[in-house]
Amino acid sequence: MIAILFGPPGAGKGTQATLLARHFGVAHVSTGAMFRAEIEAQTMLGHEVAPILASGALVPDELTVRILESRMDHKDAAGGAVLDGFPRTVAQAQALDRMLAQQARELTVVINVNVPDEVLLNRILKRAADEGRTDDNREAFAKRISVYRQQTEPVLDYYKQARTGVEDVDGVGSIEEVNSRILAAVESANGQRV
Ligand code: AMP
Repeated sequence: MIAILFGPPGAGKGTQATLLARHFGVAHVSTGAMFRAEIEAQTMLGHEVAPILASGALVPDELTVRILESRMDHKDAAGGAVLDGFPRTVAQAQALDRMLAQQARELTVVINVNVPDEVLLNRILKRAADEGRTDDNREAFAKRISVYRQQTEPVLDYYKQARTGVEDVDGVGSIEEVNSRILAAVESANGQRV
């Protein structure tokens, strides 16, 4: 299974991707987490992307696609993956299509987690207090939301036009509630493919 967990910043993609990956026994692949690990380890890539993440802008596609491809080559991703925060541009979605085609794999489903903006901001500010992410503040959030609307939302239309199903899920509710909605959406997508 290869599932994309799609949604705005603060929609709960990370938490839900962890649960979904565990449920299906597949890899949880988060480009944001990979970038944060590079920053933490103070690698060259980390130094390059740190100011980009802090501002709320997107890391250039080429760099992002490269890190994603190397992660998908790990053996734990051979049985499947939940992609969290990737693709964020149409160019990334096209690169993913090419990569999967080369490996004779197919995208199972795109789960679109919907959460109203005011709920998103509250969640982000709460996460700032809990986790201390450099991009969890009002300014970076405003930037991330506008980047999401302009560059990332068009990815949904890209998938709607392709054969891949997009399943809309209400992301407001408890972690467990949203998790069961997502599982039902994945089942429904799997059912449609049989
Ligand atoms: P996330 O943890 O998914 O919210 O990502 C945090 C930040 O990492 C984003 O605001 C971007 O700066 C960067 N990032 C993560 N994934 C991508 C991606 N697919 N394309 C470009 N930048 C990304």
